Amino acid sequence: MRHGTRLFLIGLLAVLGTLLSAPAAATTAGFPAGSVCTALGPVSAGATGPVKDPSRWNCHGARWTIDGSKASFVRIDMSGQNLLPGSVLTTRLTRFERMWLTAIGRDGTSATREIAQSDLQFSSVHWKMRLPLPHLNAPLTAYVLKVTGARHPGLLSDVHVAPPPDESRVGNQQILLAMLCGLMLMPLVLNFGFYRVLRQPFALWHALAVFGMLVQTFVASGLVNRFFSPSLLEICVLSSASLSLASIAATQFLASLVEPDMLGRQQKALLRATGPWMVVWSVYYQVAGGPLLSSVSSVYYAAFLPLFGMLVWAMFTAARRGSRTVWFQIIGWTPLIGMALVRIGSLLGMADSPLSVMTAQHLSLGFEVLMSTLGAADRFMTIKHERDRALTQSKFLESLAERDPLTGLYNRRGFEERYTRLAKKGFDTMAVLDLDLFKTINDTRGHAMGDAVLKAVGRALMPDEDTVAVRFGGEEFLLLMRGPDAADRAEHRRQSIPARIAAEISSLDRPVTASMGLITHAVPMRFADLYAKCDKLLYQAKSEGRNRTVRTDMRSQPASSEDRTVVNLR
Ligand code: GH3
Ligand code: MG
Ligand code: MG
Repeated sequence: MRHGTRLFLIGLLAVLGTLLSAPAAATTAGFPAGSVCTALGPVSAGATGPVKDPSRWNCHGARWTIDGSKASFVRIDMSGQNLLPGSVLTTRLTRFERMWLTAIGRDGTSATREIAQSDLQFSSVHWKMRLPLPHLNAPLTAYVLKVTGARHPGLLSDVHVAPPPDESRVGNQQILLAMLCGLMLMPLVLNFGFYRVLRQPFALWHALAVFGMLVQTFVASGLVNRFFSPSLLEICVLSSASLSLASIAATQFLASLVEPDMLGRQQKALLRATGPWMVVWSVYYQVAGGPLLSSVSSVYYAAFLPLFGMLVWAMFTAARRGSRTVWFQIIGWTPLIGMALVRIGSLLGMADSPLSVMTAQHLSLGFEVLMSTLGAADRFMTIKHERDRALTQSKFLESLAERDPLTGLYNRRGFEERYTRLAKKGFDTMAVLDLDLFKTINDTRGHAMGDAVLKAVGRALMPDEDTVAVRFGGEEFLLLMRGPDAADRAEHRRQSIPARIAAEISSLDRPVTASMGLITHAVPMRFADLYAKCDKLLYQAKSEGRNRTVRTDMRSQPASSEDRTVVNLR
């Protein structure tokens, strides 16, 4: 760099330095220009507090004190500053008891305005409120805010005077927030679907947690003020209630979501106890006063620490024991807990600027909702899969219990369970068949041959949608049929038996026939009665020479004069 240029730059920096430092160096009545200072004073003190004694003000920005028995003051130095038209005092949205705002003129005049609830305006993009400035004709030296009963030191530390931004325009941030709220609506619907299918409590807890997070985001982002006109109290109560609801439901969700045996009994009990714990402290935050006021917000925020401690411990344990679903929770909770620790830390004096993490809070809540929904869906799928498998297995076992393994037809048990339903569906014809002289096959050709014959009979009986075929026991079969030609179809099946057996077992030396007793009835009858009647007819068929059907049609005749027919085609 050439010597001349260097000299020129040094000169320029010196001039700039003088220009920039000039206002800061100037003081008004002992206050640094542009400073924001705070002090405590008696409630009875005037609206400007100890303004005449700069030594009683703290201008270092480190300690913003609230005291239940005193008033807090904030002095915003305006000397050397141009008050832009439309300026208001903006600060963190916080509950308070009373508030006064005073404009002090350079000529010693002042104007004080007590802030009424109706004066407050709430931002629709931030957790902020705005107060109108009192009007003073003389050039200004400072504004002084006097406040009693403030519940959060942010009300003091976050004050500044400037025209508010135009919030009627919808910017990227609002679109993002609206998208986040929309995103949170989806799991609500999804969870009710999950619950309807599986009746698992975790779906309801998740719906509640998401609802709490949705309300929290809607209120804490200021979006609520775009649609409604809530009061300061309503906003604050909604915010802390939704935060409590979200944290209570989220812990219950975790306790009910993780796979069995992944959490200890003690851990589950402790997780459940966080519900009442959070209720106590959020009520405390809203109602504590007097000497408790100075610590109320720190205590409230600190109350979240055991909750997070519990969550971390539970998630760690479940992960160590091999839980799959807890990983969705771990990923979902990490940014949220990190953000919350910054927020809590800032209030406990360990970090800075609580308001700037609000956007981070909305984003991390949205992320948590997304991950926990994925986790819930994953768990839902696993449980559904396990349940379906168990159901298929039990259906299979059930079918084994109600089917005859030799012929594949229903057995007596399976049939009796279905009889009443079938009777109601119009199955009005019952036939009981018994093979003729079957014992001789067993005796002469062996039991295996007997079994082969029984299998062939099973196939000859051909069940279809109007025909239920049953192996009732031994070599006795039963048909239950419906339709106008039911009796003929039963008879056709009986007569097909010898041919079917002969076709399947060529080595038999005689045709194997069957006898049958058949009843068609009009009024549905009890199974035992109907069976007894069929059995009686079957006995008649046997005693009249076998290989025939004896049938009774109870539809056309009164029961006393039953129409008895013997069919014998051989
Ligand atoms: P009827 O014409 O009077 O009915 O004479 P039947 O020989 O068929 O009647 P009975 O009741 O005397 O004999 C039935 C036989 O059926 C006796 C039994 O050994 C045989 N049986 C029962 N269940 C089975 C089975 O599962 N397999 C075989 N192979 N035989 C069976
Ligand atoms: Mg027999
Ligand atoms: Mg028999």
